[in-house]
Amino acid sequence: MPELTASSLMEHHRAASTLLSLLEGNGRFVAGEPRYKRDIVAARDAAPDQTPSAVVFTCIDSRVTAESVFDCDFGQLLVVRTAGHVPDRAAVGSLEFAAAELGVSLVVVLGHERCGAINAALNAVEADTHDPRSGYLVEQLWQPASQAIEESAEGEDAAPKALRLQVRRTVADLSRREHLDGVLVVGAVYDLDTGQVTLVDED
Ligand SMILES: [Zn+2]
Repeated sequence: MPELTASSLMEHHRAASTLLSLLEGNGRFVAGEPRYKRDIVAARDAAPDQTPSAVVFTCIDSRVTAESVFDCDFGQLLVVRTAGHVPDRAAVGSLEFAAAELGVSLVVVLGHERCGAINAALNAVEADTHDPRSGYLVEQLWQPASQAIEESAEGEDAAPKALRLQVRRTVADLSRREHLDGVLVVGAVYDLDTGQVTLVDED
């Protein structure tokens, strides 16, 4: 447990209220009542400067568009993407840059249902083989995929469990990073059908 100081409390307060406003944005998205048009007029208005308050670290999946999902305007959100939100060096470096240079206090790790990267890892574990086309990813996702299969009943779809394990793993990895000290890292899952974002508990 890190030492609580007035400034760390303020940081967490800021991160928590940022998280709440992202979830409110998701509520508008789900309700079909977005606040931001994100057209050229909005782009030009936002062009002089940026003051993003959060980073969404999500999958490369074309169906997951963070700015829409959280109903954010230009300049409000940084987005880092790797397949299966695997925290490789460039991704972690981008998050560290966001914290150090742009003062971001919140990272949301956003997984999604029916993730192709997670499914590739599950298939590889089932077949006990590494597909050379997705070698690095399968290697990185092997642990949550095999744990999910182990913990699933016969005939049960292991994908939702593997996804949540990978979200928690990514959150745990980022939370240990020295250069992200003081940054609140939370996990969440995006439902492709309803548009709903649900927070994932730590354990
Ligand atoms: Zn995915």
